[in-house]
Amino acid sequence: MLFARLGLPEAWQARARYTLLMMDLRDGESFIRLWERWKQDPRRPDRLHVVALSASLVDASVLRAQLRAQTPLSLHALVEQLVAQWPLNLPGTHRLEFEGLAVTLTIAVGPPEVTLPRLAVSADAIWRGEELPAEFPDHCLRAPVSPTDNMLRLAIAPHEVRHAVVVGAGIAGASVAHALALRGWRVQVLDLSVRRQQEHAAHVAAALTPMVTRDDDMRARLSRAGGMRAHARWSHLSEDILWQCGALQLQRVSGRIVDLKSLVAGLSFPTEWIRYVDTAEASDLAGLPLNRGGLFFPTAARIRPERLIETLLATQGVERLEVYVERVERVDGQWHVWDAQGEICAVAPRLILAGAVDTQDILRRSALLAPRTRLSEMHALGGEITILPERILAGGPRCIVSGDGYILPSLEGQCVVGSSYVHGGKRMLPTMAGALGNIERAADLLGQAQLPAMFNNLGQAHLNGWAGRRAVLPSRIPFVGPLANTEGLWVASGFASRGLTWSSLAGDLIAAALNGEPLPLERDIMDKISQT
Ligand SMILES: Cc1cc2nc3c(=O)[nH]c(=O)nc-3n(C[C@H](O)[C@H](O)[C@H](O)COP(=O)(O)OP(=O)(O)OC[C@H]3O[C@@H](n4cnc5c(N)ncnc54)[C@H](O)[C@@H]3O)c2cc1C
Repeated sequence: MLFARLGLPEAWQARARYTLLMMDLRDGESFIRLWERWKQDPRRPDRLHVVALSASLVDASVLRAQLRAQTPLSLHALVEQLVAQWPLNLPGTHRLEFEGLAVTLTIAVGPPEVTLPRLAVSADAIWRGEELPAEFPDHCLRAPVSPTDNMLRLAIAPHEVRHAVVVGAGIAGASVAHALALRGWRVQVLDLSVRRQQEHAAHVAAALTPMVTRDDDMRARLSRAGGMRAHARWSHLSEDILWQCGALQLQRVSGRIVDLKSLVAGLSFPTEWIRYVDTAEASDLAGLPLNRGGLFFPTAARIRPERLIETLLATQGVERLEVYVERVERVDGQWHVWDAQGEICAVAPRLILAGAVDTQDILRRSALLAPRTRLSEMHALGGEITILPERILAGGPRCIVSGDGYILPSLEGQCVVGSSYVHGGKRMLPTMAGALGNIERAADLLGQAQLPAMFNNLGQAHLNGWAGRRAVLPSRIPFVGPLANTEGLWVASGFASRGLTWSSLAGDLIAAALNGEPLPLERDIMDKISQT
């Protein structure tokens, strides 16, 4: 029925890609059958993208039982692949990828009246279910009205050269390069590699943690989407790089106190993603006696950022060049990149600036920084982490412990505690005052009042740490999207304190847009983060 109504396989044959919008995913059987048909068709499109609405998601085990009962044995291998990636029942956009990204399933979870208008997709056909006729979705291809609509029109033509230059080899640039390379692009990543290695080497570990708010606001939704994408995109990494250790967010006892127990009850999210824990359970999870409970995020992870970046940049198709980028200019349909010596060091049709706060300087030097825009208001917020021997912290916690500051589980005998916030500054160095602030925050989280006194008498030479700068945009919403009034120039910057949570999503958003895929994020959030 599905194939006859949609005019398949003729409707998708000899096309670069075919995108279908399913108004109800139901149990996923139609997707499995479509996928199987695609596999068997010698004249199939290179890419098959299915976007489906679903009010909620059943557990993976239930899905597996249902699909195995409904489909012949020959389809069970596909069922297993679907089940292996099946997401938790969380509202928002979930992206599943198969066949080396040639087949994707994007599931919009939530009430259809909310999710349908938020879809960022340009579809070839709509499937409303067996009882209603299929439709061709002219409403999905309406005239541009928002930045997201524009992005859906920026896909490169099938014959265009898939070559991009990325400026910046931090987690943002590495994630963009990785996402493009996975889609067969040639990517040149420009950075002052030696300086980067010197400046970032001591950032030995960082946290990938979700955030929640009572009203599930835009930053909470963006962080959830980013965390889910990071876990999917980086699922192949070893625990040495990404360790899903979980994170406690302890109840605050001073300042702005939010009742975390009622907050989590109001959200009704699965306990595999978030749950409230009392003091005893929190202590159990941390493996240390704590003096209060809070939220536990089982999927949160400790990451070694520089090892992660190295791994992403080692992807086939990615080339690194050691260059300081002075300015960029579009000449005859190509972006030319000039180094500090005035030489052209790279030329490509697409250019992505991921130089954190320095993106602003590159744009200014290139006469591309428009006044009174979000990017013109980007500023640096310095800060430092402190590295403490685990023995001082009774071996350190078994999971991330956070609240006002954070403590990461021990790594090779050392625990990272952080972090401080200092306005401005071109170059940051760790300071005694910064370290003591971090230690005070750690002492408060662990209820170990004696910690600061132990360190007060130490000289700075005994304290290890790392200091860096965060790139912050108004409302702490990053910039991910094409730069207005330019062609082929994209920006991925302004990740503030959440570079690890947001970068893989940023990479996939840019790569998806350039490849004509449905975007793996709701359009209201896309509109916000791509607003120049
Ligand atoms: C103390 C501290 C603790 C933190 N802890 C965490 C944490 O636990 N979890 C988390 O998610 N985030 C954390 N962050 C934030 C995180 O570090 C940032 O969000 C992240 O580094 C942003 O990545 P990026 O790639 O945008 O920028 P960067 O890592 O700064 O990379 C930008 C790159 O661009 C290059 N570049 C800039 N200009 C040029 C140019 N003109 N030519 C060539 N190359 C150029 C730079 O050399 C640099 O390598 C922390 C930050 C600080 C300061």
